Amino acid sequence: DGDAVLRRQRSRESSARTYARSFPIVPVRAHGMTVEGADGRRYLDCLSGAGTLALGHNHPVVLEALRRTLDSGAPLHILDLATAEKDDFTNALFDTLPTGFADRARIHFCGPAGTDAVEAALKLMQTATGRRGVLAFTGAYHGMTAGALAATGNVAVKEPLPTAGEVTRLPYPYPYRCPFGVGGERGAELSAVYTERLLDDPSGGVVAPAAMIVEAVQGEGGAVPAPDGWLREMRRITAERSIPLIVDEVQTGVGRTGAMWAVQHSGIVPDAMVLSKAIGGSLPLAVVVYRDDYDGWLPGAHTGTFRGNTLAMAAGAATLRFVAAEGLAERAAAVGARITSRLTALRTELPVIGDVRGRGLMIGVELVDPAGEPDACGALPPAPELAVRVRAGCLERGLIVELGGRHDTVVRLLPPLTISDEQADAVLDRLTDAIAAAAS
Ligand code: PMP
Repeated sequence: DGDAVLRRQRSRESSARTYARSFPIVPVRAHGMTVEGADGRRYLDCLSGAGTLALGHNHPVVLEALRRTLDSGAPLHILDLATAEKDDFTNALFDTLPTGFADRARIHFCGPAGTDAVEAALKLMQTATGRRGVLAFTGAYHGMTAGALAATGNVAVKEPLPTAGEVTRLPYPYPYRCPFGVGGERGAELSAVYTERLLDDPSGGVVAPAAMIVEAVQGEGGAVPAPDGWLREMRRITAERSIPLIVDEVQTGVGRTGAMWAVQHSGIVPDAMVLSKAIGGSLPLAVVVYRDDYDGWLPGAHTGTFRGNTLAMAAGAATLRFVAAEGLAERAAAVGARITSRLTALRTELPVIGDVRGRGLMIGVELVDPAGEPDACGALPPAPELAVRVRAGCLERGLIVELGGRHDTVVRLLPPLTISDEQADAVLDRLTDAIAAAAS
């Protein structure tokens, strides 16, 4: 039974368990946005496997692709050999890539996690440029292996860190707790000015950059969308200095932000995109796509056993095609805007809501202490204990939400793109109720 499962898991698994700690439930069934526990309780899942489940749990299109592949007798594991499934996945993916990128794209299958693709992208650019340095941002999250972790900005619980000496950390424009004491577009402009000045300052200590790696919307950093103009500035600054620009779309990809890929909002053409999570349609898959002139690796320069998960490719191809055919990115934009505006309207009633932001269905609600002193941009002090109470209150009300952000004080909503209007209303009702209860 569920209690025995929980007990055994608690006693045997590492103390680094996170989600299991916040959500002491034993899921037995899941469909769409609904997860059912062993005790029969049902939850609306706004975590979606940390943003993986673009179509929710066990979507018929994904199940059908998996069954078809299993029945076909195709090899489930065949290293990096060419297969019809790999060809089909690559076609489906390349069909969606941004204009100006798709026609010159190459793909490297990594595996199996997002962090593997980040490592591959950084190393690819180090090979291509002969340089070692990495430009990364405050609040960034790129993964848990050495190179990706060095580029990750939220380091509080992750020490000891690998050698991060080659990473230069730059200020991500975070309009609420702005790095330069000025919010909005002006704050983002100052972040860009600082970046450019630092790169050109011979005394700045910047290790010659092989790449800049950036999220168009920071996910773990607290659902912080970068202004499009700022991203275009990063493109200009890197292009002028021949620094390859890697956009980490591990969490933002496959329609989540209201466009198939988050870079499409700004119209920039990156040199590489790191993709994982939703591209595997619930199964592990990670790739780097990059412009052909960076294709400088010798055979064997970057390997890994699990570079070809046939089932993940089949599920991923089905997911990509379904998202494109059903216009789910547009749907994410519309539902996301509705959720965000209703939450924004709540701020007067619930002053613990300091900020509501996001793009599409990547939404953050930053909880604050309304009795505290505002900082230079008017942001109130973070309220991490309140946030933990809100998360627990949501779970009691049948809603799974995770926390994130620089101070673990941002309630993050990552529902599937297939969320219905009724489910969106239920999410809003339960979340509002949980915030009101925790704040009172
Ligand atoms: N990049 C981003 C933007 C992510 O959000 C994550 C995971 N949250 C990763 C990389 C790392 O992916 P994984 O956990 O699969 O290694």
